[in-house]
Amino acid sequence: MKNAVWLYFRPGFNPPAGPGEFLAWAERFGVKIVLLDCFPGARYAKKAAPDQELARFVQACADGGLEVHGLFSALTSVPEQWIRTERRELFCVDYHGISVLDEPIAGRRYFLDPTSPEVVDLVAATSRHILESYPALEGIQLDFIRYYHYHSRFTVLAQELGHTLSLLAEGSPVQLVVGDKRVTFFLEQKDMLYHDPPLGKELHFHRQFSYCFCSRCIEEFCRRQGAVLPAELQSTQEKAEWILGHLGEAWVHFRAQVLEDLLAEVRRAVKGVGADKELSITVWYSSPYGSELVGRAADLDSAVWDFGQDWWRWAEVGLVDFVCPMNYWLTTESFQMVIAKQRSRLKGDLPLFSGILRSPEHPLSGEELTAYLEAARRAGAAGLCFFHYGTWRDLDWKVGKAR
Ligand SMILES: [Zn+2]
Repeated sequence: MKNAVWLYFRPGFNPPAGPGEFLAWAERFGVKIVLLDCFPGARYAKKAAPDQELARFVQACADGGLEVHGLFSALTSVPEQWIRTERRELFCVDYHGISVLDEPIAGRRYFLDPTSPEVVDLVAATSRHILESYPALEGIQLDFIRYYHYHSRFTVLAQELGHTLSLLAEGSPVQLVVGDKRVTFFLEQKDMLYHDPPLGKELHFHRQFSYCFCSRCIEEFCRRQGAVLPAELQSTQEKAEWILGHLGEAWVHFRAQVLEDLLAEVRRAVKGVGADKELSITVWYSSPYGSELVGRAADLDSAVWDFGQDWWRWAEVGLVDFVCPMNYWLTTESFQMVIAKQRSRLKGDLPLFSGILRSPEHPLSGEELTAYLEAARRAGAAGLCFFHYGTWRDLDWKVGKAR
């Protein structure tokens, strides 16, 4: 087995002081593939000059026998100018009709709409630009080649809410405002003890962060399906509800196809730089994130339904050279089972490097890491992919007999 690592030179990511330190660590951890965050250079895809320090680092790794791939986030690497000038048609719109431009996730995360040709061009140009800027790179890895998804819910105990209760009808929007950030939720269910006096019981709010229901995406979906939406549907939410209710499976395939088309375009760009340059992707194994931590088993199909990542198909049609699923927060048993299922769906021998996370909340000892490595080997992974260097660098461990 050979392992891989995600490496970020960003504040808070505890990066190595230099290539010497990193190469020594890589040898101890059996790491042969480095997925190096090239986001800072990618941010202004067409004009950023190569970062000389990064270029030297890439060369030192290559000289040290490592394969280095440039990593960036496909759909969240948003040019600031697009935000500033409110290029609305380039940003995703959710189930309720709210653009991520108006309500970025957690007040700061934007993502682009992959049905926009301009967005596809940006991701392809960024990939090309990174490879041309750092010729020693052997390929590109796309992170965030997916749709954002989260069905967000909360419940309010409303017994003492009083007369405000009468303001709230089911379906009412309610905003949480924190400084200059805001997020809209919708009242899904209102349980009352009495209306007079105003004694509430529970208010259930939700927000379906499910994308992209902009008019272009809905039109394109209908065109490809040969579907016609009932004329009485007015709001985005009505249309989204109808689509998911009547053509849910087709909608899932449509989104996966949109991402596949994006990937195909990026692959053309990558191969345009050099026939031997590779393309790989970071993918999720299940939705919601960390389901096992709240007692829900990992479900591979949910990554397709919720994130649009039908990556087994992308592998089958030859769009990627290897995959790195972020198999985080799993017990060793589940880790092995998830990898085995992922492998069994992959046609052929496409290498799979199983992501493994270590963090202060999820500390892993050397013994535990050995157990995960064994589990990955038994399940048929090509290796582990450490997320991320800064959290693993201090672990006293050396790759041993599990090869
Ligand atoms: Zn859209």
